[in-house]
Amino acid sequence: MDTTSFLKKTIGGVEQIEPALTPPPVKPMLPVKPKLGQVASKSRKRDIPKGLWTKCPSCASMIYDKELDENLQVCPKCQHHFPIGSRERIHSLVETCTFEEMDPEMVSVDVLKFSGYKGKLERDRKATMLKDAVVTGVCKIGVHRVALGVMDFAFMGGSMGAVVGEKLTRLIERGTEGRWPVVIISTSGGARMQEGAFSLMQMAKTSAALARHAQQRQPYISVLTNNSYGGVMASYAALGDLIVAEPSAMIGFAGPRVIKDTTHADLPTGFQTAEFLLDHGLIDSIVPRKEMKDRLMLYLDFLTVGKRSPA
Ligand SMILES: [Zn+2]
Repeated sequence: MDTTSFLKKTIGGVEQIEPALTPPPVKPMLPVKPKLGQVASKSRKRDIPKGLWTKCPSCASMIYDKELDENLQVCPKCQHHFPIGSRERIHSLVETCTFEEMDPEMVSVDVLKFSGYKGKLERDRKATMLKDAVVTGVCKIGVHRVALGVMDFAFMGGSMGAVVGEKLTRLIERGTEGRWPVVIISTSGGARMQEGAFSLMQMAKTSAALARHAQQRQPYISVLTNNSYGGVMASYAALGDLIVAEPSAMIGFAGPRVIKDTTHADLPTGFQTAEFLLDHGLIDSIVPRKEMKDRLMLYLDFLTVGKRSPA
């Protein structure tokens, strides 16, 4: 058919009309704004293009993103600790090229067919480039070979499902087997409700693995970062031989609002902050993020005197 011909619909079918000399008017193309819902990540920080500024929620200073990156996501003015990704944190702690990741391909399955769970998993996998809310592996921190697990709040609020529990259990067992100290850096809203009882079982599983680790007289350091709540705090995060926290981290089982509503009592100032819990004996020390590696090395020196296995 002649390309300059146009078809005209009639009731009886399609009928060809005279070739047109000029094409019919085309609607001018307008730039299309992306819809807000099309942006994959919920995190405002991730949505802002690189090279911009972030407002500190604590001192209200505007911080250049590059400066924040170089300062391990800590405000240079007031030392407010922003959330940090698991990979960035591992990079800040371990000796270069020593991290051997374990189970990098392990993924959650929607065993209960929980409404919307599959979609959330896929969304967070794309947004964070992680498979689930924890990265585990064997590495070196200073001279010590360590089994290290680092949780990531950006993946479904660091919630503990079957994958988080299984990866951490395998990590602890590897540490026990190799006679290496275990270090777990927690950040979590608690157990993953989309996995129901399967997520609650992880509390017993990780705790049992840590008990066997302790029977072998191998040390375990738990590092609590903002926020550490729920089933994670009710299991492995609270079982460290040493429990260390980042400044101002919020730590507890249920949140302050739930406790206030249940007990009908006024909560003390600073309730559930790392500083409050240090005063009340739940944690052993508060360590700023930039000093964390040196302090871990010091603690590992102390905890492994006379029983260090060959690195
Ligand atoms: Zn600040």
